[in-house]
Amino acid sequence: METKLQLEPLENWSIYKGRPLLISGPCSAETEDQVMETARQLAALKKVDVYRAGIWKPRTRPNAFEGVGTEGLKWLKRVKEETGLATGTEVATQTHVYEALKFGVDVLWIGARTSANPFAMQEIADTLKGVDVMVLVKNPVNPDLDLWVGAIERLYAAGIRRIGAIHRGFSAYEKTAYRNQPKWQIPIDLRMRIPGLPMICDPSHIGGARKYLFEIAQEAMDLNYDGLMLESHIDPDNAWSDKSQQVTPADLLELLDKLVLRQSVSSDAKFLDKLSILRSQIDRFDEQLLDLLEQRMNVAETIGKYKKDNNITILQNQRWEEIIRKVAEKGRSKGLSEEFIEQMFKAIHQESINHQMKVMNAAS
Ligand code: PEP
Ligand code: MN
Repeated sequence: METKLQLEPLENWSIYKGRPLLISGPCSAETEDQVMETARQLAALKKVDVYRAGIWKPRTRPNAFEGVGTEGLKWLKRVKEETGLATGTEVATQTHVYEALKFGVDVLWIGARTSANPFAMQEIADTLKGVDVMVLVKNPVNPDLDLWVGAIERLYAAGIRRIGAIHRGFSAYEKTAYRNQPKWQIPIDLRMRIPGLPMICDPSHIGGARKYLFEIAQEAMDLNYDGLMLESHIDPDNAWSDKSQQVTPADLLELLDKLVLRQSVSSDAKFLDKLSILRSQIDRFDEQLLDLLEQRMNVAETIGKYKKDNNITILQNQRWEEIIRKVAEKGRSKGLSEEFIEQMFKAIHQESINHQMKVMNAAS
């Protein structure tokens, strides 16, 4: 399902100079010196388009550093005057919006905890009615595409046309290597739902640690994202928030220089020819997969009928555990990840159960 929004293409935004649009700066504004020095070093790289700094910080637990507040907006104004960088900050309430606009902040972004909250989103949208400003919406903390779309629609309904999305990953109870799970399929689905929506990846909050930033940023570029948001700090190890994921401006430059930027389209006939042959192979395999699934479900239905006639339950734990163990082992030998095999077979198993249920509960 496509949502028709007439958004302003990113190419027409004043901050856009080319791909990737780069937003960088500290997680939090801490002191005037830290804000100014980080900005000077970033401006000198000549690659940063927007200087970010959190002024109000949504912290999970009380008593953590919650941001310097309005005082920091004066520093952002100075950054703009002295370095020429556009500025951006997170807003979560009506007061934040008023204050940020008063100090000339160019880009407002909605944090992941706020985009998950329709009341807060509506309050922000109402406050922004009639204001000509750029707004980026981070994905909600929970993997809910409709909530993300809804946040964007509320801003659109308020008349905002320069809207973009920031992918910062999704939280999970289980501890994983990354701080937040990327679940790349969700932002891809978002782009299908709202064609033309500018997409920015935030490797800092996905990875949560410096060592993952490059691989996530590269993946985003390979998936044709428009931009990146990367946290940077003159002294990351002593940052007041998110210290393990921030990099110095010099390290940021090194990361950017390593990034491989591929084009999203090509007009080279030989390349297109080869690609179309490979794609038709993929299409054929997909058809075969579907045929096999159809056959598998037919057998499942026969089993369902057989179990019904003999009064046996559908789910037999032992059999299921045996299947999962066998396919995980086989899958590994074929270079398929355990996670993928498990997800795929769980889905196939669920579909089989649905087919068996249909047979079991049929009238005859
Ligand atoms: C941030 O950008 O510093 C931040 C708090 O991000 P998120 O809303 O993605 O957690
Ligand atoms: Mn942060």
